[in-house]
Order: sequence, then structure tokens, then C-alpha cells
Amino acid sequence: MTVGKKLIITDHPLIQHKLTLMRNHETPTNLFRSLLKEISMLMTYEVFQGLGLKKIIIKTPIQEIEAPSLSHHQICFVPIMRAGNGMLEGMIEIIPDAKVGHIGLYRDEETLKAHHYYIKLPKKISEDVVVVIDPMLATGNSAHKAIAMIKDAGAKNIIFACLLAAQEGVDLIHQNHPEVLIYTCCLDECLNELGYIIPGLGDAGDRLFGTV
Ligand code: URA
Repeated sequence: MTVGKKLIITDHPLIQHKLTLMRNHETPTNLFRSLLKEISMLMTYEVFQGLGLKKIIIKTPIQEIEAPSLSHHQICFVPIMRAGNGMLEGMIEIIPDAKVGHIGLYRDEETLKAHHYYIKLPKKISEDVVVVIDPMLATGNSAHKAIAMIKDAGAKNIIFACLLAAQEGVDLIHQNHPEVLIYTCCLDECLNELGYIIPGLGDAGDRLFGTV
């Protein structure tokens, strides 16, 4: 489902069912982890629907044919640590030869501003389709900072993929990076005073790594 030009909600029933399981506070870490991986695999189909294909010549056991193959595009995933790593597991399973960069951000609990502590991106990123991944697009501060850093490194084609989004985060991204397409599985109601998504699923990193 496309909401506006730059926001796509992947509302497939399988994804929505698995998302409900993830939201449930009784869902244990191991199941939460595997559900995030499964949803991310399913989201990968959606995110790359527009990717160009080129024709290559191959030989089947029967004859030579022209067959579709991913075009010259390089794909680079950039999870925002630490929760983004949970989504990376699913996406990299579908596109195993993608490059992977990492950005480490923590948020100041008082100001909710994002501060970076780590960045490692592939050297040549300017021709890549870069998919920035973080399960929760809440205030948008982390996503905004990560996208700005990736642009500084030369990337021109950036997509943002998350599990849940709040309107505040979507607006911040669209104001600062109007060209970035956002994929999410649900646009939730609002944020609370601590910057958590309501109803959300809690702290994605804590639930993913069992640090609740
Ligand atoms: N980060 C999370 O992990 N959960 C939220 O609800 C918001 C930001």
C-alpha cells in the first residue's frame, strides 16, 4: 500500500500476522528474533520490486537463452546498530552478495538526539542502491543522521526500511531527505514522551538481544 509518494506500507497478511506476534509482550527473545528475520526477508521482496533487470546469455541443459539477471546496480545494506542487525539477517539471506555497511548510533535519553559512535561504509557507494535499516522509525533522529552520513559518503540512491514508523519520524525524513523512499509494515499512532512508538513493540534492541 502506497501512502503518499514516498511511504510504502507493506501490508501483506503474512507480515501483519508476524508483526502482531512480535508486538505481543509475551513473545520470547528467540521467537522475536526469528520473526524479525522472517519479516525482513518478506520485506526484501517489496523493497527491491523496482530494481532493474538486464538480460544475460546462459545455457540451460537444453539450450542457450537470454535470461533476466539483476542489473549493474550494487546493493548495500546499512543497518543502524544495534537493532538494525536483526533486520539485516533476513535481508542478507535473500541478497547474499550485497555489501554491508554499519552505523552505530545511540540516542541521548533526555534530548532524544542521535549521536554516532561508529561508521564503516564500503569505499565505493555512489553507484549503489543503499538500504538503511532500523526496525523503529520513531522521532526519526537516528534515521535522519544515518542518511545524512551516508549521503556525505557519496550515496545518491537511498531507501529506508523499518518495521514500525511514527508520523513524526516519517515527516522528519521527508523534510530533510525528500528523495528517500520509506518502507514500513505499519504506521503506528504516535510517540510517547520518551520517544517510544505507541502501541509499538517496546525497545526493539532489548527484545532482540534479550537485554530487557
Ligand atoms: N526505539 C525502539 O526500540 N522502540 C521504540 O518504540 C522507539 C525507538
